[in-house]
Amino acid sequence: MEQGLILLAEACPTVPPEALTEIPIGRRDALILSLRERTFGPWIVGLATCLGCGEQMELTISVANILHGQEGNSSLPMALDLLGYEVRFCLPCSRDLFAAVATGSPEAAYHCLIEKSVLIAYHKKQRVSAHDLPADVIEAMAESMLKSDPQADVQLEIICSSCGHKFQQTFDIISFFWKEIDSRARRTLREVDHLARAYGWSEAEILSLSSWRRQCYLDILNFKRANK
Ligand SMILES: [Zn+2]
Repeated sequence: MEQGLILLAEACPTVPPEALTEIPIGRRDALILSLRERTFGPWIVGLATCLGCGEQMELTISVANILHGQEGNSSLPMALDLLGYEVRFCLPCSRDLFAAVATGSPEAAYHCLIEKSVLIAYHKKQRVSAHDLPADVIEAMAESMLKSDPQADVQLEIICSSCGHKFQQTFDIISFFWKEIDSRARRTLREVDHLARAYGWSEAEILSLSSWRRQCYLDILNFKRANK
């Protein structure tokens, strides 16, 4: 989860760290998805395993298809009036998620998130706490949150090309982007290692080359090796 804040800080370099933790989850994910697009381009290639036949397939997704508009942008409170309960609540942010995870159990985390999201609640004009809200009201709150912040839960609709089975898969931009950065970093280190051994250049000298020039030298080395 810390990874989310690290990527968010990169996406919003002028926003102070404390303010980053208050950005609603869907807005956070939209900002990170835009950063991903600027870094690696508009296409995302991933793998999915069919829940019907177990076949692994490659998925190509356009960032534009999963990037929602400005929903979830607002930290303004939402209101719900149901079964005699009036509730004002807000979308959860990273700070709320940290608190929820720290509770240590899914049950406690769920209640913690509800508690953090509820700003004020009344039952028949009497002030009540988040604990007193019935399950139906909490469920309606959760639905309303999801509707106003769809970026917080991106579901991919997948049809298996082998068996035709249709299923949904959650797309988590943070873990996906993190893995991409990690594998790019490892690849760059391998490139530095090859070039340093072949030409005797320092790491700083190699990293100061554009990726295009670095690739040209690597192609020359590969050509030489293939024609030995
Ligand atoms: Zn299948």
